[in-house]
Amino acid sequence: MALTDTYGRIHDNLRISMTDRCNIRCFYCMPESGVKFVPKPEILSFEEIERFARVAVEAGVRKIRLTGGEPLLRKDLPRLVEKLAAIPGVEDIALTTNGVLLADQAGALHAAGLRRINVHLDTLDRERFRQITRRDDFDAVMRGIAEAQRVGLGPIKINAVAVKNLVEPDIVPLARFGRENGIEIRYIEFMPLDSQGLWLRDKVLLQDEMIAMIERGIGPLDVIPDADPRAPALEYRFRDGTGRIGFISSVSRPFCLNCNRIRLTADGKLRYCLFAIDETDVKGPLRDGSGDERLLELIRGTVRAKWLGHEINTAQFVPPPRPMYAIGG
Ligand code: SAM
Ligand code: SF4
Repeated sequence: MALTDTYGRIHDNLRISMTDRCNIRCFYCMPESGVKFVPKPEILSFEEIERFARVAVEAGVRKIRLTGGEPLLRKDLPRLVEKLAAIPGVEDIALTTNGVLLADQAGALHAAGLRRINVHLDTLDRERFRQITRRDDFDAVMRGIAEAQRVGLGPIKINAVAVKNLVEPDIVPLARFGRENGIEIRYIEFMPLDSQGLWLRDKVLLQDEMIAMIERGIGPLDVIPDADPRAPALEYRFRDGTGRIGFISSVSRPFCLNCNRIRLTADGKLRYCLFAIDETDVKGPLRDGSGDERLLELIRGTVRAKWLGHEINTAQFVPPPRPMYAIGG
């Protein structure tokens, strides 16, 4: 049976956060210091995640993405990938990572059955990478991407967060890098999910501005007409036939009407939206001996409670109580 909300949207996509910890400190996600992480015993175990995923698949989930925090910090991640890939009904497993630890783990992840991966990289400039992430790991990320390609992970996409007055010089070089390496770049408009309240609408580099830069710097783009209408990214290809790019434009073009996602945080809360204020505790039922029926009810109830969409563009917008790293981007 499909997992349908009261607006008729079918939810077949589950994003699971592996941890709220991270080895770098992107300013639009985490503060530089003083972050209070969830104590380890409060983080769901692989067994608990696997059981939850099984029940979610029974409810209608078909696609799973592992994220975080930084998911590669979780020891033995390939073991979980293998378990999830073995659940009957799971059609697709993907991973979103900052790539710092990818070079060492790409082979094992591929062997465990992972294929699709998104690597987060906002710039090809080492100094700006350091400015954004407050760490000096640019070379490690580039090695991670190369190793992922070498072992056959793919499709590989790059997630680049678009912050105004900062990454303008990176937009075109990233698109060129993607074209040269068979990687789709996905530009993500800066969203109000930082822990320090830094977001302002005029700090968002908007999709239309980026398209203009890329067309000026490289050449004309055409919308890909047959792209999946439920995918969050609006996808374009270069008219010369080489390469494609995508935009996740939550600010300038919210895609809530097509949303098919639910999210499980590392500490066991189920959320119907990145920006949700309410969340449903599933760790309690996973640990108190409740049966799968109870979990099924909670999953269906969370989806039924889903709102029509976030209100970033209105005066009523209230940022969620958790920043990005604690939700699972
Ligand atoms: N650590 C991994 C990573 O960076 O890819 C996975 C978790 S991270 C929270 C997931 C994605 O969220 C990142 O790829 C980044 O592009 C995006 N992100 C983080 N903070 C954001 C923000 N304030 N606005 C838009 N995207 C953001
Ligand atoms: Fe870490 Fe990803 Fe957040 Fe950057 S965006 S601080 S890599 S969790």
